[in-house]
Amino acid sequence: MACAKPVFDITPFTMLDFPDHLACIVWFAGCNMRCSYCYNPHIVLGKGNIGVDELLDFLRKKVGRLEGVVLSGGECTLYPKLTELCYKIKELGFKIKIDTNGSSPQVLDSLLKKSLIDFVSLDFKAAKSLFKNITHSNFYDSFIHSLQILCLNSVPFEVRTTVHADLLNEKAINEMADILLENGYKGIYYLQNYLHDENSLGNLNANPKKLDKTLLTDKIRIKFRN
Ligand code: SF4
Repeated sequence: MACAKPVFDITPFTMLDFPDHLACIVWFAGCNMRCSYCYNPHIVLGKGNIGVDELLDFLRKKVGRLEGVVLSGGECTLYPKLTELCYKIKELGFKIKIDTNGSSPQVLDSLLKKSLIDFVSLDFKAAKSLFKNITHSNFYDSFIHSLQILCLNSVPFEVRTTVHADLLNEKAINEMADILLENGYKGIYYLQNYLHDENSLGNLNANPKKLDKTLLTDKIRIKFRN
């Protein structure tokens, strides 16, 4: 049975999270990963506070003022009625961006085939050897499937990785870049340094060092977001 209140919170306005669009962010409660650096444990472990009717009431008031809706979390693809919700958001005239950890390739594929998504941010957590250590989950193969689906689709998407130098060093990032290229990714590979938060799921220490950019591969375009 679908959760009566799947949404943890709504950020009413962002100019940063949906490329070239004014948008809001819908934070879905719950996630199937437990990344050590996750600084949203309240969303990952918490329950939803906002039901779909309340969300749609909010969005109706934003028609003409916002262009897009970012479905984030947590992991939004875990919400069983996501397709129905996307149809309703589209009926209001918004574009939809999905933030996903790539664990639900079938959901992603279905949404793409129904033309319900306009942009995707795909989190690449680690290569197979480090994936479980970082995410405490076994979704590496699902991630690769999601990546392949997106590479074969025309909907724009980006791949991004959060970097804590204790978890991912330059060699690990270069291996991940090779995996992206092998699977046909042609876009920019975005890296974002871990920002220390005492409440991160893995209780990580503050980032002790930054990656040495001179040791990163130039086979793919890499950009740091911070
Ligand atoms: S960082 Fe990891 S645990 Fe946190 S929401 Fe994203 S996928 Fe889930």
